[in-house]
Amino acid sequence: MQSKPEPSAPDPLGESPRVIGHYIGEEPGPLVVAIGGIHGNEPAGVQALEQLFDLLKEEPRLNPGFTFRGELLALRGNLEALRVGRRYVDIDLNRIWKPYVRGTDNTFPTVEARELDGMLAAIENALEDSSAQELVLIDLHTTTATGGIFAITGDDAPSLLLAAELGVPVIKGMLSGLQGTTLSYFRSGEYDFEHPCRAITFEAGAHTDEESVDRALAATVNLLRSVGCVREEDVSTHHEETLRRAAVPVPTLLELTYVHHIDPDDRAGFTMRPGYRNFQSVEEGTIIAEDANGPIAAPCSGYILMPLYQDQGDEGFFIVAAYEGGTAY
Ligand SMILES: [Zn+2]
Repeated sequence: MQSKPEPSAPDPLGESPRVIGHYIGEEPGPLVVAIGGIHGNEPAGVQALEQLFDLLKEEPRLNPGFTFRGELLALRGNLEALRVGRRYVDIDLNRIWKPYVRGTDNTFPTVEARELDGMLAAIENALEDSSAQELVLIDLHTTTATGGIFAITGDDAPSLLLAAELGVPVIKGMLSGLQGTTLSYFRSGEYDFEHPCRAITFEAGAHTDEESVDRALAATVNLLRSVGCVREEDVSTHHEETLRRAAVPVPTLLELTYVHHIDPDDRAGFTMRPGYRNFQSVEEGTIIAEDANGPIAAPCSGYILMPLYQDQGDEGFFIVAAYEGGTAY
């Protein structure tokens, strides 16, 4: 799969506002669900998946031996928030994933509850018609800060091993720090699915960096290779190079050591000090933000991740450190 798709007309079959595409291979394999735009101000993942489907349409013509094992279902996440370019409309869609209970009256308490229902319905529909033995989920995001790219997983060995194959730093331990995320839904036993499931989140860089689209595409293509949907020889080395170019000198496996939850009553009062980047080193005691109670010091040394430089978001910053827990996987 090469890096530059030929532009092609939209295919009316299989496309909808929710579904970017549903590619069904000729050989058995996993069902890969790729999601972009769970946050509406992060369109890079959506654009990457649209490009991926353009590549898949072109591939048989350019590479007659191309085969695909399993299925790829690509979804747009928060349609309404994507339309208005906001992280969310009523509530953060990546904090409300929980076991699926659809109301009987077809009304929803929030815009995001309706979006979640639409995403889960699309996944359920694909599963009903699929013979896949495994579900693999990749959730594509970007951050307000610049700096390094990374993957986040649960602490299960299969997901960690898969994330490690992307060739970017992997952050473990996030499930205990954040509730209601896509990862926690698919990895914490909340999802009622009889088949095994591996799930990773990929953070492709800054929202506004055009290369974030290339990196999200590269990570998704590499994941398709790692899970056996596409063969090694059918994947351009361009994608590896794209990810390698964004590498920063940090350990390959890190774990969450601190998350700064913003007091919901003081949302407007939180201000991150300027200039922090993903994976910037910070010393314990350094003042890195302020809120209504005054300066906020880093409670431990480590690397800053996802410092918040936008008006929406429930966490001010994360601190991660090299994983030193022995056997990682
Ligand atoms: Zn996001």
